[in-house]
Amino acid sequence: MSPHLLSIDPLTRDHVDHLLRVAARMEPIAQRRQVTRVLEGAVLGNLFFEASTRTRVSFNAAFCRLGGSVCDTTGFTFSSMAKGESLYDTSRVMSGYCDAIVMRHPEQGSVAEFAAATHVPVINGGDGPGEHPSQALLDLYTIDKEFARLGKKLAGAHILLTGDLKYGRTVHSLIKLLSLYDPMRITLVSPPGLEMPGHVIDRVVSRGHRVEQRDSLACDFSDLDVVYTTRIQKERFTEEMSESFAGVSQDFSVGREFLNARCNNSTIVMHPLPRDSRPGANDLNVDLNGDPRLAIFRQTDNGIPMRMAIFATLLQVEALIEKDLRPVRWFVPERVGVDDAAR
Ligand code: ASP
Repeated sequence: MSPHLLSIDPLTRDHVDHLLRVAARMEPIAQRRQVTRVLEGAVLGNLFFEASTRTRVSFNAAFCRLGGSVCDTTGFTFSSMAKGESLYDTSRVMSGYCDAIVMRHPEQGSVAEFAAATHVPVINGGDGPGEHPSQALLDLYTIDKEFARLGKKLAGAHILLTGDLKYGRTVHSLIKLLSLYDPMRITLVSPPGLEMPGHVIDRVVSRGHRVEQRDSLACDFSDLDVVYTTRIQKERFTEEMSESFAGVSQDFSVGREFLNARCNNSTIVMHPLPRDSRPGANDLNVDLNGDPRLAIFRQTDNGIPMRMAIFATLLQVEALIEKDLRPVRWFVPERVGVDDAAR
């Protein structure tokens, strides 16, 4: 594997299967049953120049759970980029301080430019409307775990990606990742103007997958295995676009009615989050809270073992993890969320 994780493009199925296996070995640590110090002494630089809760905190927590320490900076205002510093200079400076760097930036291609100036492993935490490879890896890890629980297989599965497929970077990475596996059926539903880029679809089709594009959720999805819904990325819209899309998202909102009327009892619901839960936002509906098909918080929990696996693999310590384990000593609740099943 390359020293960096910038995109799904260079990954092979072997790389991905390796990461899935390492993530599974991280579960006892991620679930706070065991402790490792395998990255003791290592320092992560977490550079977030765009809003983030999950990605920033879970990369941070994953590195800490491996025994490392984290330095971070958020927003342009408090970094030297506000004084005109280049990505090249920032990259070289941070490389002198840190053993791994996670970066999120609003411009597509910016994290790759930053990584080109360093030999220290860099992970793309989201580059504008480009990619979000660690999210796709944790999404695949979630699908894999959910399918194992439900006795399903990825080969031949029917997966629906819906919402803003043009600017949603998580779906760009996820569909590329899924395309490495045996043929499946992928349905893409988005408002007109927010379709998945054509070159991404072409690649998926060339690998033997059946891809259908629609502009409405009013279809029969009775054989659906996964609905992966995304937020309309309004922050990437021009003023004109904001006006033309006002109100359009309500037709693309997934909730209890859609799931009960059009899907089945084992269709799982995923979302990279955040979902906009304010009234009228028309994002993934809160009326699914507590429904066992809603996998969004299992999905966020899976971010820890997968991000630990990414660090362990890039920093080449994955063979050492089991040698270093000891039991936790502090109190850990059996369920971390009030609607969770016991772990
Ligand atoms: N958190 C995801 C991202 O950073 C999804 C989103 O913001 O809608 O791409």
